[in-house]
Amino acid sequence: MHEVSVEEMMAARDQRFLRQKKLQQKGRTLICFTLNIAGPIKTSPLIKKAFQEGALLLQNQLKAAGISCLYSEIHDRNSGPEGYFCCNGNPADIKQLMIALEDQNELTRLFDLDVLSPQGDKLSRQEFNLPPRRCLLCENEAAVCARSRRHSIEALSGRSQQIMTRYFQQKRKHLLCQNAILALLTEAAIAPKPGLVDRLNAGAHQDMDLFTFLQSSAALIAPFEQYVEIGSRFAFNQPQALMQALRTAGRQAEARLFQATEGINTHKGANFSFALFLAALGALLQKQQPLCWKAVRQWIQTLLLQEDSFFRPDSYGRRIEKQYQIGGILHEARAGYPSVFETGLPTLKRLRAQGWTLENAALNTLLQLIVTTEDSTLLHHAAPDQIFALQNEIRNFLSLRPNQCELLTFVQQLDQKMSQNHWSPGGSADLLALTLFCYFIERKQHKLI
Ligand SMILES: [Zn+2]
Repeated sequence: MHEVSVEEMMAARDQRFLRQKKLQQKGRTLICFTLNIAGPIKTSPLIKKAFQEGALLLQNQLKAAGISCLYSEIHDRNSGPEGYFCCNGNPADIKQLMIALEDQNELTRLFDLDVLSPQGDKLSRQEFNLPPRRCLLCENEAAVCARSRRHSIEALSGRSQQIMTRYFQQKRKHLLCQNAILALLTEAAIAPKPGLVDRLNAGAHQDMDLFTFLQSSAALIAPFEQYVEIGSRFAFNQPQALMQALRTAGRQAEARLFQATEGINTHKGANFSFALFLAALGALLQKQQPLCWKAVRQWIQTLLLQEDSFFRPDSYGRRIEKQYQIGGILHEARAGYPSVFETGLPTLKRLRAQGWTLENAALNTLLQLIVTTEDSTLLHHAAPDQIFALQNEIRNFLSLRPNQCELLTFVQQLDQKMSQNHWSPGGSADLLALTLFCYFIERKQHKLI
């Protein structure tokens, strides 16, 4: 990485001054955006990313205030990235907006947003009776610390690195959790799901409805964030350490779930699977590895290698597992979720590419999942031979490659039949939620890099 000399910094400042003069000739208010990064290294991939984020926040801030940016230019220099924005608006209003942006969060405290009036006057915080900016290390007045050289360059530059890294980690965490919750809510709402709770009816269930699912989805927000954090925190440790932390957090989340639903099991299986997915994604991103499902699957498999069961020995999943010699969700997880990656996601993507609505594509995907997986929740009420017949019926229907209309007619009938028989394919519903999550993430993955 390039280390800038004092001479280079001086030259860059002169150049900036000239550029400002030139742009002022346009008779507009000018915003000059630079980053305040201590030390001789003024540009790096992380610094550039922070700058891009800043430019975006700045433009959004202007847009929200109804101020149009008429011209902008951005330069990537060794002395640090810099941006110029010529705006149509009152300089005092714009300065206040920029001050608010500088004070918005930890990252924006690294922003230097100078505002120059059309006459070339630089506006200052003092004009608005606002306190001066604070030092990032000791919270005293920043200018005083800078003049007295109170902190070492290493300490200051380390702090800015830490601020930028944390900001993007937080942002990724929110994006992952937001999409995980979105997947749960979408799965719950999609209708008519055969035998399952949806926005139209409660399917085979008497003790829960859509609102129970909304309650438990909301209860999972904090645990989901914790799973990503655990993944990041233990990314460089032994998988056992990560799994240990995940197990503890997972059990606490289960308790929260049952509290939220007053003892009804809505998302226990989803909680188990999302814990693994989110921790694996957290670990991958922490290691700055490219996001690919193959790597996520490997992470999950590694995590479960020495794991007996997330479920307690007396849990329903374990009893069914023993009784019918099937692994249920644990078997899926140990194999790296083949149903999600080899059946669910390809089906959903194919149908979406053919123009199917998300809801219909998801319903079709659910049918595919019911026929290809061993659903231990379904086994709760249906005998193995009944399931076999049901799977055959669905398989035959799917082999006719139905269109969206035909699919809806079929699932409506299937919903009635399965609801009457108290057959609820809850395991497949969890796999659909995971499929939707992967689908959402794939579409937003550029934001995760
Ligand atoms: Zn200080």
